[in-house]
Amino acid sequence: MKCLQCGEERFEKKKMRFTPEIKGEYVAVLVMTHVCTGCNTPLMDSHQMNHLRRAAADQYRRMHQLLTSEEIVKFRQALGMSQTAFANYLKVGEASVKRWETYYVQDVVQDENIRLKCDEAYAESNALEVHWKTHPADIYSGKRRFNWELFKQAVCYLVELTRSPLFLNKALFYLDFIHFKNHGTSITGARYVHLEYGPCPDQYQNIFDLLLSDGTLTAITHHELHAAVKADLSVFDDIEKETLRLVADLVKSDQGKKLLDLSHEEQAFKKTKALQLISYEFAKHLKI
Ligand SMILES: [Zn+2]
Repeated sequence: MKCLQCGEERFEKKKMRFTPEIKGEYVAVLVMTHVCTGCNTPLMDSHQMNHLRRAAADQYRRMHQLLTSEEIVKFRQALGMSQTAFANYLKVGEASVKRWETYYVQDVVQDENIRLKCDEAYAESNALEVHWKTHPADIYSGKRRFNWELFKQAVCYLVELTRSPLFLNKALFYLDFIHFKNHGTSITGARYVHLEYGPCPDQYQNIFDLLLSDGTLTAITHHELHAAVKADLSVFDDIEKETLRLVADLVKSDQGKKLLDLSHEEQAFKKTKALQLISYEFAKHLKI
């Protein structure tokens, strides 16, 4: 190897900063390269060149919340697929997969495609959103459309008093059903199902997984959840806030143990069968 600038033949390896352009943006990355000992000009071999392209592409992807090459490889490997099989699975050309796994940045549509087909939590949260968007307000949602933001803030507020998901689910049930009884609509629009341990929000496991993965909740153990962010009560109107405070008072002293017991005595629970959706019609018979 000979320096093209000064003819020097001795090189040393150094980490250098490069700022290649990707999709019209300059991306700064540090990579190992040979540097001429005479004039400091970097000279890359093909291996270092590939490394630079991939590092720059990944840096760009991180800046734009796109999957990195390594994440794409991991998704493919988790499915146990070859690049060919993976390309068929994603309905793209094999060359695309090969490039995405190295230096070519996938566009946002393909990024979404990969996530939907490879990331179980992502696919589930997408399914939940479709489910909520397409379900109308009816007697099973307390005559309100499900409102994710209200549900999330109610969880953040109540979880700090109940901790365990078991108690939290009952507090949410009473929140919506008490409000329906007093004002004719639920607060969050959530649907509740009859489960072995009482009334619970429909798909609550998926909902909590989602709240954990988006950083709203943190889990100390399976039985102890915390709100990672303070509840924003400004999303509730004044009457909804009254119901929230009422439920907070009910669970304050014992995290909701009494509510849990009481929920098993409710007609909403006794007159429905396992896994059945609970009609808000039962709200008028609440024991509270
Ligand atoms: Zn040189």
